[in-house]
Amino acid sequence: MRKIASFQVNHDLLDRGIYVSRVDGDVITYDLRMKKPNGGDYLQMSAVHTIEHLLATYLRNDRRGSEIVYVGPMGCRTGFYVLTRDSIKKEDFLKLLCSAFEFIRGFEGEIPGTKKEECGNYADHDLAGAKAEAAAYFEVLKRKSVADLEYKQ
Ligand SMILES: [Zn+2]
Repeated sequence: MRKIASFQVNHDLLDRGIYVSRVDGDVITYDLRMKKPNGGDYLQMSAVHTIEHLLATYLRNDRRGSEIVYVGPMGCRTGFYVLTRDSIKKEDFLKLLCSAFEFIRGFEGEIPGTKKEECGNYADHDLAGAKAEAAAYFEVLKRKSVADLEYKQ
């Protein structure tokens, strides 16, 4: 089988940040890289799960929510993919993402979608862990601009 595009990205050169992973028609796939690949420090699964619930809830509740196509974690536990319509400008998406991670960093209360009928593993959440990871990633994200979105070759 041929090697898919995301395996062709040199993960040795990849650091924490945000990148455009691919563009398919009017859909942009963003690589939200929260941990350095193969850096020995990975997101814990229960924190990933909580970030997923909060990130998806925040983005879909934004006024641009209908232009968010998908939010999901990477199996390697170093980040997330978010797919958007290209009707959201990249600079606007960066701002939206900053406010999303600020929201997660400060979140208090009941995690959305954590009733048994709403989730496939509803007890597996870690809000404190999610907030700590969101706080760390926010510090990375707030320094990024559209010029940083390209993968290094
Ligand atoms: Zn869930």
